[in-house]
Amino acid sequence: MSLNFSTLVFLVLIVQLLNLSFLRVFCSSLSSNELKEIPSNFLRFGKQKEFFDWMVGIRRKLHENPELGYQEFKTSELIRAELDKLGVPYKHPVAVTGVVGFIGTGQPPFVALRADMDALPMQELVEWEHKSKIPGQMHACGHDAHVAMLLGAAKILQAYRKDLKGTVVLVFQPAEEGGAGAKQIVGAGALENVSAIFGIHVAPQLPIGEVAARAGPLMAGSGFFEAEISGKGGHAAIPHHSIDPILAASNVIVSLQHLVSREADPLESQVVTIGKFQGGAAFNVIPDSVTISGTFRAFSKESLMQLKQRIEEVITGQASVQRCKAIVNFFTEEKPFYSPTINHKGLHEHFQNVAGDMLGIDKVKEMAPWMGAEDFSFYQEVIPGYFFFLGMQNDKQKQLDALHSPYFEINEDALPYGAALHASLAARYILEHQVKVVLPEGIYHDHDEL
Ligand SMILES: [Zn+2]
Ligand SMILES: [Zn+2]
Repeated sequence: MSLNFSTLVFLVLIVQLLNLSFLRVFCSSLSSNELKEIPSNFLRFGKQKEFFDWMVGIRRKLHENPELGYQEFKTSELIRAELDKLGVPYKHPVAVTGVVGFIGTGQPPFVALRADMDALPMQELVEWEHKSKIPGQMHACGHDAHVAMLLGAAKILQAYRKDLKGTVVLVFQPAEEGGAGAKQIVGAGALENVSAIFGIHVAPQLPIGEVAARAGPLMAGSGFFEAEISGKGGHAAIPHHSIDPILAASNVIVSLQHLVSREADPLESQVVTIGKFQGGAAFNVIPDSVTISGTFRAFSKESLMQLKQRIEEVITGQASVQRCKAIVNFFTEEKPFYSPTINHKGLHEHFQNVAGDMLGIDKVKEMAPWMGAEDFSFYQEVIPGYFFFLGMQNDKQKQLDALHSPYFEINEDALPYGAALHASLAARYILEHQVKVVLPEGIYHDHDEL
């Protein structure tokens, strides 16, 4: 029986059995003190040696076998094997390699927790026992840790499932790094009936035991483009017999930098970066063509679309000034634009309460928005969502390298925090958002009459 159907049956039963006259909330049977203690209890649970070693083992196995977007077959297999061991039911495949697990009653409220599974196409340069075994592929964004933390949350929640008066949906999604896996998960209907979703990202620069986020815009929307600028190749010593695409591409790049400096509102953050410039093979040859590609970022969809239009105009117009032709491709099928990541205000309060109860409110930091992009925004386009960063830096150890660095490392001591935060955000959400059950007017009884 599908989740939708069971939810529907539940709601129909309520409507049939009860007269829609006034609302009465069935509150959680836990006291407010008991609710308050959930986060620190879960953290204690996550820090137990056996539990911690199990999460570390999963993370290291994933780190040794990194897989790129939509190719996370072994990762997906490992996740399903662990869910099987925990006795957690799941749907698979969702969006090629995705796995969606369920813990709880199968009834509302539904709250989702998300982990991304993909690695990056880059060579790991950290020499250690569990270095990537796949040349040119690396978990340099911490998604191996994200999977381990969500499995950790599953283990905690499964142990407490009798107290869950609702359902936690575990979303293991493919292809965050440019492939818009979240969009596919939404398209597969995995979030139907879900009222909120939470996502974690590890943060190497943030101290361990701290978290950071903000209500409203947190991360930028982003797009990607590639342009081929063609001229006419020839001898470097006879430039007047050639049409030089290297010079044309250079002017294109300079002109593209004027979009943000001269056309964008100075009070609105935008970025245009060219990350790739490929052309030529010899010092004394003018090549036929040059390929450039880059990314553009903004905090509104309108600004993104405006940048897209102007990037195309500038590349083709500026190339033609130098007698070159240009073809611009935005690859919107393969790499859909990511919308800005905008955190729900109500969930911000929930996050502060839960994380504050676990870590102390002084460890829950307000974060400035930044120009990174996340496909978590696809979830936030359809339901309230909240994305936050989890600290990893230990003062006594060396400074961790940035996300996407070939020297990126995870401080595995952060794993219990991630698992416990996931689990407590979901458990508290469910217990604090119990379904409003409608009782019929006139036949409502006081508790002692029931
Ligand atoms: Zn990344
Ligand atoms: Zn990432």
